[in-house]
Amino acid sequence: MDSAAHSPLQILHDVFGYNAFRGQQQAAIEQVLSGGDALVLMPTGGGKSLCYQIPAILRAQQGKGVCIVVSPLIALMHDQVGALHELGIPAAFLNSTLDSQQAGEIEQQMLRGELALLYVAPERLNTPRFLALLQCLYEQKLLSLFAIDEAHCVSQWGHDFRPEYRSLALLHERYPDVPRLALTATADELTRQDMIERLQLQGAAQLVSSFDRPNIRYRISEKTDPRKQLLRFIEDEHAGEAGIVYCQSRKKVEETAEWLRGEGIRALPYHAGMEQRERQANQDAFLRGDAQEGSAVVMTATIAFGMGIDKPDVRFVAHLDLPKNIEGYYQETGRAGRDGLNADAWMAYGLQDVVNQRRMIDESPANDEYKAVMRGKLDALLSLAEATDCRRGRLLSYFNDQGLSGEQRLNYRCNNCDNCLSPAVTWDATQAAQKLLSCIYRVQQASGISFGAGHIIDILRGKTTDKMAQFAHHQLSTFGIGADISEQQYKALLRQLIALGAVSVDAEHFNTLKLEPLAKSYLKGEHTVLLREAAPESARKAKSSMRSDGKPKTKTPETLAALDSMAQQRFAALKAWRAEVAREHALPAYVIFHDATLLAMATAAPQTLAELSGISGLGAKKLEAYGEEVLRLLRDDAGQELAAA
Ligand code: ADP
Ligand code: ZN
Repeated sequence: MDSAAHSPLQILHDVFGYNAFRGQQQAAIEQVLSGGDALVLMPTGGGKSLCYQIPAILRAQQGKGVCIVVSPLIALMHDQVGALHELGIPAAFLNSTLDSQQAGEIEQQMLRGELALLYVAPERLNTPRFLALLQCLYEQKLLSLFAIDEAHCVSQWGHDFRPEYRSLALLHERYPDVPRLALTATADELTRQDMIERLQLQGAAQLVSSFDRPNIRYRISEKTDPRKQLLRFIEDEHAGEAGIVYCQSRKKVEETAEWLRGEGIRALPYHAGMEQRERQANQDAFLRGDAQEGSAVVMTATIAFGMGIDKPDVRFVAHLDLPKNIEGYYQETGRAGRDGLNADAWMAYGLQDVVNQRRMIDESPANDEYKAVMRGKLDALLSLAEATDCRRGRLLSYFNDQGLSGEQRLNYRCNNCDNCLSPAVTWDATQAAQKLLSCIYRVQQASGISFGAGHIIDILRGKTTDKMAQFAHHQLSTFGIGADISEQQYKALLRQLIALGAVSVDAEHFNTLKLEPLAKSYLKGEHTVLLREAAPESARKAKSSMRSDGKPKTKTPETLAALDSMAQQRFAALKAWRAEVAREHALPAYVIFHDATLLAMATAAPQTLAELSGISGLGAKKLEAYGEEVLRLLRDDAGQELAAA
């Protein structure tokens, strides 16, 4: 790296090939360069890494040593460091995949002031050897910055709690004059406060970017036949594209992957119970699978998968089970569409999900305070799932984004979620709720025991079953009083009443239903209950394959579809070349160039290095390494076209 003094903007341009900072990037960079600490909250794909990479490069150029990046993601460090090498930045990682000689060499590089960034896991940081190294670096004024990635891992209120993160407070205690940058894509108020306290960031600047991800379309449907719903979603809208399907249990992850494979989709499983080697192989296949060659991978996974995955062209994230809370949902869905092109967040959920999540909280060994917080978070997610108004408005107001609260939220329309695109038809279910609640009450009175949802609904609908005869429930006054309402509608109503806290499910007694004190006010009709009318599947399908402009959706990103045939050919040639380079370098293709950069090259078809250097995502090092090659490719391709004409 040359030693000329640069400004952050120059580095953004020269090294990364970008023209302008996004959101709070500049503020974060300036804050740490002036010696302060910062807590950076940006959505996934917002551009957090540049916030510490640019100060690290600057400081290294000035001979001020190395930035220590604390990251829990050992499996991704190789690719992260590889991406920096592609940019010409001296970086390394220290983890258990290196032998002691390799590790020793990296330590020496640091002590010689040769590295700009070092990636390390928190458990490594806490070893006596590493702490001694830190001390040495510090004494020689070679510690430029601490970057704490995925900082929410320090909080038990976050969804990825890692006890090892707690020890990171020692960085501040020992080296208070070394600036720290803590970064996360998630944090509601509670988690944020906890993070500040645990990492002693009271004096840090809080830099919060908008959490909106406008290119992600949110959709939440009622579960009817989840596998078929999922298959139709993938086949109709994302054939041959990379995506993630989240399931709750390891067993379901395996079964879903196998089933999808049977349906001709390249699906691979990922969960914490798998052997490390297989897990890593599947993750690599996902990161390296190339949509263009028809080998993109659909990863079916538990939430063990995804943190730090920076694959930019994940086109969808599907949930077959309800996540635990909105933070988890937002974090998981945020893994779609980091390249800014259209992407889908799709979820199917039903009554059983509500019951399961409640039960998991009830049965957890945690203390009452913790359980109460978790219940509150689940309730917020349930009201998102049941919402008939704009999903994005709800999400943004949950994160208190753009001051979107109360009235404002009610009028918010994003035009890129299911509720905005096909407004939900609602029906007044107040009376139906009264019938349902009083039926639960009567049955309990008459029999002295409680029953589950299925039987209660049978009574309301006046069905004659063996159970009905056995308990003489056909003689109850509520027998058949609600036959006009479908079973599916009752289930939706029950979900709502459970979400509202009027009914609870007793997991220890066969999932029987019980009235909660709140039920009284609903029985008296003091609240209106509005429910979404279940749209027939056919109508939903027709709508979902349309874009907001009413045009049928194509399988290729719109920007690609918009290319003329020459440009399409250039794009294909560039992709094939990129795949080759990526294989040679043992890195995912997007580390060489993003699709968006290739698209820009294919469209502009530059003829000279100077023209090529104007393309976003092409810094000096890549221009030097690949520029001539790309130009030759663009020329050859045009030549072939002419020859063929
Ligand atoms: P995060 O870690 O916040 O999820 P990344 O740091 O991986 O996000 O950045 C997401 C993508 O956006 C990366 O491909 C990155 O190169 C790109 N990016 C970041 N900052 C800028 C910028 N100022 N201009 C253009 N692209 C950017
Ligand atoms: Zn909306």
